[in-house]
Amino acid sequence: MRHLTKIFLLLTALLMSVVGSAAAKSTAPNELEYVKAYDTYEGGRSFFRIEIGIKGEDVESEIELDASISKTMTIALNNTIPGKVSRHGGLSAVEYAEPATALNVWQGNGEQTKIKIEFGKTIDDRSYRAHVEKANQGLKLPTRLMIDIDDYVFLDEEEIELEVGSGAIVIDPGHGGSDSGAVGSAGVREKDVALAVALKVRDLLEEQGDPVVMTRSTDRDVHSAQASNGQELQARVNKTPLDAAIFISIHCNAFSNPSSNGMETYFYNGSSLGRRLAKLINEELERYGGLFNRGVKSANFYVLKHSAVPATLLELGFVTNPEEEQLLADDEYQEKLARAIVTGINRYFGRVMAGGM
Ligand SMILES: [Zn+2]
Repeated sequence: MRHLTKIFLLLTALLMSVVGSAAAKSTAPNELEYVKAYDTYEGGRSFFRIEIGIKGEDVESEIELDASISKTMTIALNNTIPGKVSRHGGLSAVEYAEPATALNVWQGNGEQTKIKIEFGKTIDDRSYRAHVEKANQGLKLPTRLMIDIDDYVFLDEEEIELEVGSGAIVIDPGHGGSDSGAVGSAGVREKDVALAVALKVRDLLEEQGDPVVMTRSTDRDVHSAQASNGQELQARVNKTPLDAAIFISIHCNAFSNPSSNGMETYFYNGSSLGRRLAKLINEELERYGGLFNRGVKSANFYVLKHSAVPATLLELGFVTNPEEEQLLADDEYQEKLARAIVTGINRYFGRVMAGGM
């Protein structure tokens, strides 16, 4: 008997060291309440969310991705038992929808619950974020582990292929001619930065054999100097060939406060391919350009709303921020931005991996 106790203690000590303080605090294990997986939209972003309700406070989880044939995500909840989810066969407590194709819950080793979700697509480490939300007595919500997966990973590759076609890449340098766009304190003009970067993007794309259409390739108005804003922007949209693949509008940001900084990319709300394009270019702009990342956002900008093809609008940085103004006017920095944009485009077309250029 003494012998057994000793082993038990040893095991307990071993478990403590593995699971850490979370397990040490409470003796009773957490209990799984439910698992839901659904599409959601929050803060200008859409994603696929896995919501795991847990009775208990100290939630410790490990997420494992299997990118090979099975394309699954396995979530291990330490110090948690499956509870009613397994007792009732999980029918009422488990809900999931496409693109999840299967969801299983079982008890792992000891007091551990495992949840495995199968997808048709590979999910990588960069495609999801996990966080825990505290229980809310008033709303009768338990502690929740939320795992948010970017929905662009679930886009059908055939659908993208279809949209890509063999069409041209339309590059739209913002402003031009009578319209300088924003002007920085050192005199750097948005229209010049946009054109310089756009021409470098064109050259890189043509080097790799892509057909490119420029809405303007010199310092000019696309419609006319007298045109209204709407006419000018429509003239740019009209330059898009019917079978074009994508539309990319290049701009610089401006704000009254000179400390405002960073880059951001935009898509038209509801355009999943536009969002994918905006996201991939955003990642590369961060990687190559190094400015603060203000994110991937949806907006009603004219050229995005009226584009018949997947479109994005890029704000490369603030000309009203003295440091960024200097960078934006720098030829080498413009070259980096152009490479970032082309790498994003190549990723969109499935030609390269992240950062590969
Ligand atoms: Zn602009």
